[in-house]
Parts: sequence; structure tokens; C-alpha cells
Amino acid sequence: MKALVKAKAEVGIWMQDVPMPTVGHNDVLVEVHKTAICGTDIHIYNWDKWAQDTIPVPMHVGHEFVGKIVEIGTEVRGLNIGQRVSAEGHITCGHCRNCRAGKRHLCRNTDGIGVNRPGAFAEYISVPAGNICPIPDGVSDDLAAILDPLGNAAHTALSFDLVGEDVLVTGAGPIGIMAVAIARRAGARHIVITDVNDYRLGLAMQMGATSTVNVSHQVLRDVMDSLKMTEGFDVGLEMSGVPSAFNNMLDTINHGGKLALLGILPENTGINWNHVIFKGLEIRGIYGRRMFETWYKTIAMIESGLVLDPVLTHHFNVDDFQQGFDVMRSGKSGKVILNWQ
Ligand code: NAD
Ligand code: ZN
Repeated sequence: MKALVKAKAEVGIWMQDVPMPTVGHNDVLVEVHKTAICGTDIHIYNWDKWAQDTIPVPMHVGHEFVGKIVEIGTEVRGLNIGQRVSAEGHITCGHCRNCRAGKRHLCRNTDGIGVNRPGAFAEYISVPAGNICPIPDGVSDDLAAILDPLGNAAHTALSFDLVGEDVLVTGAGPIGIMAVAIARRAGARHIVITDVNDYRLGLAMQMGATSTVNVSHQVLRDVMDSLKMTEGFDVGLEMSGVPSAFNNMLDTINHGGKLALLGILPENTGINWNHVIFKGLEIRGIYGRRMFETWYKTIAMIESGLVLDPVLTHHFNVDDFQQGFDVMRSGKSGKVILNWQ
């Protein structure tokens, strides 16, 4: 089968022929119809330090996908051939304390599809049946292919009560702007989002932001004043992974504020702890999605009218994958969908 392979330990990704995956007793084989490019795939493409330390070469990558089941392992119950599905990309151990308590997002032995094991940028993928998420008719293939990052956005945005609250989102990447839509849906009052990229801030407005701040030439406090905010943000969602963005958040969050951190900050990022201590902040790190609560919630939100279309900015046939990676790397995109059919 054809697959997008991280074939060499250098910048790039290559279309190659790879063997068909094996299907164990508890696995299902999915024929991949659409995939989406994640920020993680860009790290892998760029071959940065994290990728060099993490990704075995050669291996085909990718973890955001939708397809249909074409083969089912002998022990699998409750799934059918032909069913339209996506899958949770974190394969958890099932025997650690958190797994056994049903808190699989906190598993200490997680394996990542397209990170530690072959991925979804391929004509077929074999997935443990327990990770499969059936897709109802009301969810399009495009949206089904991005349920994984939408789940990141939901897990972060729904960490704290947003009803009537003023929310700061730092970073208008695909996940940040989807978090805007969810925060709007969840009942936030003002949702202010920061970035250095006007294209992405434009998308954030379409997704329901109250105001955008391009921090390269605008000051967040000025925008807060224009919104007549007198005390500070109630909730912060850090989705840039940029230390100055996080520090801006610590500076403008109100006393007793709540922060959820999804963006991956560089090791040894320094902060002013006075903000954390004297403001009595509550800070929560976010990894992945709640299995499988965020899958149920995001599907239900889409079925009941959550509009995410602005984030779907580009579609390519998989043979034109290079264009897809190029536009994603340029920053002038939301989610980029690759069509495998
Ligand atoms: P992305 O890289 O596309 O988005 C980050 C955005 O931050 C970009 O639009 C960038 O222009 C913006 N930015 C740069 N400097 C900024 C500044 N000073 N202030 C505000 N914004 C600034 O990433 P994404 O795919 O949307 O993911 C968001 C973050 O979450 C990334 O750091 C990613 O690595 C991380 N992530 C974490 C998890 C997890 O499980 N914790 C999962 C997925 C992604
Ligand atoms: Zn575990």
C-alpha cells in the first residue's frame, strides 16, 4: 500500500510503498479515506529535536483520519465491516493505576499512532478495536478527520467553567481557533485571542472570537480596556507553546484565575511565580483528550450545530501532499485535509 513515510532522518516526508499492516485478534483494519495534517506532523516533517528524539525512521506517520472498517479481528465485538470510523491516537496500557481507574488520558505508558507506531497517512491502518470511534451520519468526513485536534481543543476549553467568563486564548493555531468556537458555545462572555499571524486571527474571528490581538503590534491591555474589562481574564487557554504568550496570560489573568496549558512550552521556560502565588492561580496541564468523553462531546456538539467550517481551509489529493505540507508550514492555513480515495 502507499503511505507517507518519514523515510530519512532529515527535513521532508516521502510517498512510498509499505507492507499492509497485520490485524491482530483485537484489532480492526480501516481503509483510510481522509487524513488531516497535525502540528505534530509538521514537527516530524521539520525533523526538529523532539522528532529526532521520538520518531523511529523509517516509519509512516499521521494520526488524524477517517475511513471505513474493512476487516475485523476475531475477538472484536460491537463493530461492523463498512462502518465509518476514526480512532483515538493514544494507545494506553490498560494496566496502570489511571487506566484501571478509567482515566486513560493519564496513562503513563501511552503509545502514539503515527509517533511510536505506524500511522494513518496510508491506504490502510490497523487499530486496536478499543480505540475506534464510530462516526454518525451527521458528521462529515472532513470534520471526522479532525475530531482528534478538536478533542484537544475541547479537553482544554472544557477544563473549567466558561459560562459568563472572560476567556483569553493565546495562539490562533487550528486548536486555538477551535477552542474559541467551543468557548463561545459553552457560554463565555468575551473571548480574546492572541497570535502574531493575521491570517489565523481572521479565522478566529470567523470562529466566534470577540476580539483578536496581534501581539507583534497590538497591546492586549488596550483591547481589554476597549472591552471595558476592569479586572482581568477569568480563564486562560494557552495554545501557542510560546513563553512570551504564557507570560502575557499570567500578567492579564485575574486573581483566582484558571489556566489550562496545552501548548508545549520549551524546557526550562521561566515564569514570574509571583503571579501564580499571589493571584492564587489554578494551572492545569493538558495532554491529549479525555478518553472517550471528548469524542462523545465533540461529536454531539457537531451534531447539535457547532460550526467549524472556517478551520477547514485546504483540501488536496494525497498525491499533492507536498502542497499540503507547504501551506501548513507557511502558517497561512487552518486544517489541511488530504484525500486518499
Ligand atoms: P500551531 O503551532 O499551529 O499554533 C500555535 C500558534 O501560536 C501559531 O498560530 C503561532 O503563530 C502562534 N504564536 C506564535 N507566537 C505567539 C505569541 N507570541 N503569542 C500568541 N500566539 C503566538 O499549533 P496547534 O496545532 O494549534 O497546537 C497548539 C499548541 O498545542 C502547540 O504548541 C502544539 O505543539 C500543542 N499541542 C499539544 C497537545 C497536547 O496534548 N498537550 C496536543 C496537540 C498540540
Ligand atoms: Zn495505562
